[in-house]
Amino acid sequence: MINLVLFGPPGAGKGTQAERLTEKYNLVHLSTGDIFRSNIKGGTELGKLAQSYMDAGNLVPDEVTIKMLESEVDARPDAGGFIFDGFPRTETQAKALDSFLNSKRTEVTMMLALTVDDEELKTRLLKRAETSGRADDADPKIIENRIAVYKKETAPVAEYYRKQHKLKEVNGVGSVDEISRRLYEAVEDHG
Ligand code: AMP
Repeated sequence: MINLVLFGPPGAGKGTQAERLTEKYNLVHLSTGDIFRSNIKGGTELGKLAQSYMDAGNLVPDEVTIKMLESEVDARPDAGGFIFDGFPRTETQAKALDSFLNSKRTEVTMMLALTVDDEELKTRLLKRAETSGRADDADPKIIENRIAVYKKETAPVAEYYRKQHKLKEVNGVGSVDEISRRLYEAVEDHG
């Protein structure tokens, strides 16, 4: 079983690359952002709770996010492995994921961290806003906040996996195919 954490700032290309990795390695793709958005669309209690945080570009509280992620994993007992996209985003979430997977006698295989500079991120997010319909992509102030939240609360999660010798940094600038190739190499390098 391989469990990949796909990591990187907003606009790094996690969603696009997660789809490719999912197909190549036959994994189940869990994107916490996508799950929240579908709850907002469906008008669920979870969606109502998440919306104000997401619209402002802030993180949804850990307790809510962790509970949701665990129930999504539990709903797929036959999965051969998972790709976690946009989770964990805090050290508390990373620790919860470790103990949850340990309780299922599995673990995070590696974190793949896409690196992209800030200017490129802002350009990509504003471009994505033209088609994504996402309020949090359309406003430069909210984009700035998402990047600031990433640096303050999320970036330390990479260090958490580095200490476990599970961090692989991958250059996230280039064509989609080039970046996919780099990611496949990083996965296969694991052996
Ligand atoms: P994303 O689609 O990954 O860009 O996530 C969009 C938004 O959903 C984020 O800005 C957060 O408000 C929320 N979100 C997604 N994943 C998480 C997470 N792991 N922890 C807290 N909030 C999250």
